[in-house]
Amino acid sequence: MANFILTKRGGFKMRFLGLMMCFMIALSANSFAAVVQEGIWGNGVTFLDFLDKHKIPQNLYYNLSPEDKELATEVISGNKYFILKDDKNGQLLQALIPIGEDNQIHIVKDDSTENGYHFGTIPVQFFQKQQSIALELSNSPYHEITKATNDTRLANEFAIAFKQSFNINNLQVKDKIALIYNRKYRLGAPYGSPEIVAAFVNTRNKPYYVFAYKDGRYYNEKGEELARFLLTNPVRYTRISSRFSNARKHPILGYKRPHLGVDYAAKKGTPVHAAGDGKITFVGNKGGYGRTVIINHTDGFKTLYAHLNGYAKGIRSGQFVKQGKIIAYVGNSGLSTGPHLHLGLYKHGRAINPLKSVKVAKRVLNKNEIKEFNLLAVDYKARIQEVLAQENLPFYEKAVEYLAKHDTNKDL
Ligand SMILES: [Zn+2]
Repeated sequence: MANFILTKRGGFKMRFLGLMMCFMIALSANSFAAVVQEGIWGNGVTFLDFLDKHKIPQNLYYNLSPEDKELATEVISGNKYFILKDDKNGQLLQALIPIGEDNQIHIVKDDSTENGYHFGTIPVQFFQKQQSIALELSNSPYHEITKATNDTRLANEFAIAFKQSFNINNLQVKDKIALIYNRKYRLGAPYGSPEIVAAFVNTRNKPYYVFAYKDGRYYNEKGEELARFLLTNPVRYTRISSRFSNARKHPILGYKRPHLGVDYAAKKGTPVHAAGDGKITFVGNKGGYGRTVIINHTDGFKTLYAHLNGYAKGIRSGQFVKQGKIIAYVGNSGLSTGPHLHLGLYKHGRAINPLKSVKVAKRVLNKNEIKEFNLLAVDYKARIQEVLAQENLPFYEKAVEYLAKHDTNKDL
C-alpha cells in the first residue's frame, strides 16, 4: 500500500500518495507545489462554514441548483474529507467531501467560472469483497463477532438479521454461527456498512438460516420475508416528482446527479406524518433542505422530511413519536421549485431508496422469484456448511492479503 507522510500541520494528517496523485492530474505544472490535507467533518459544520474556512465565495453555494443544494446539505459529521492546497498561498485547489457512502462532492478551482470554483459530484471509489466467518460461541454473538472481525457494524447487522427468528439473548455457549457478507474497503480500511448475504445459527440443535435476496431484504429458508423496518406513506401526494438515485447505477449514461430521497408533490400545507415510530432528533433549518425534521428509528434507520412549510404544534427534538403522527406541513422552504415533501431514508447513515421500504404488508415472492431464491439458498447453504467445516473455529477469512494486492490507493 502506498502510504506516504507528506507533512503535518494543524489537526490534519497528510498521507496517501495515491490520493495526492489523483488530485494532481487536474493541476497544471506551475502549480505543482501542493499539499493534500485530510480532515474530519465536525458536528454541526455546514457547507457554508466549509466555504468560509477556505475563503471560497459563498455564492458557490447560493448559485447551486436546488438539487445540488440538497447534496451540499448531505455531508455527514464524522466523515473524512480531503483537500488539496497551494503550498505557497494556502489557496484551496480541490476538495473531495463524501456525501453518504456512495458519492462525494468535488470542488475544483476554476478561474473560468463566476465564483472561481466548480462544484460537482462524483462516485466514491471503493472495492467490495465477499467474506465469511464461522465461530462457536463462548460469549455473546456481539462480543464474539466484534472480537474476531473488529467490525461492530457486522455484529449489529447479525442481530438485526435474526431479530424475528429467535431471541438472540437466548443463544448459548457452544452454539455455532456463520456469516457470509459483503464488505467495502476504501484506502485500505473497511468502509461503510457490511451487507449480510447469508447467515446461520445452530442453537438447541435447531438450524436457522437467513438469506438476503436481490431486493436487499432478509428471507428465511422457505423464502418467507422476515419482518423488518417498514415505512408508511408520510403524505397524501399528487405524484412522485423525483425518485431516488445514488447515481452509481448509471455508469453508461454518464454523469447523473444523485438524488438521495423521494420527492412527493403535494399542496402546500398538506400534513406530513411520521413514517415510523421513533425519536425526533432534529427540527429546524438544514441548508438546501430548508425546514427539516429528522426521526431516528430502530435498527439504525433514520428518516428525513424536508422543504417543510412549518412544524406541527409541540414538535421538538428529543420527542418520541408514533408512526402516523402529524409532525409538519408540506412547503417549499429551501427551494425555488413547487411545494413537495422530500423524504430521505438512511440505514446507518447511508441513503437508501425509501420507496423500496414503503410497504404495508410483508413482501411475498412470486413463482419465478421463489425458483431463483431456492437456487440461491442452496448455494448459500453449501457455502455456510463449507465455512462451518473449518477445523479451527473461529474461522475468519481476513481481507488483509487481498487488500495488499488490490487496494493500491491509486483511486479515490
Ligand atoms: Zn428531493
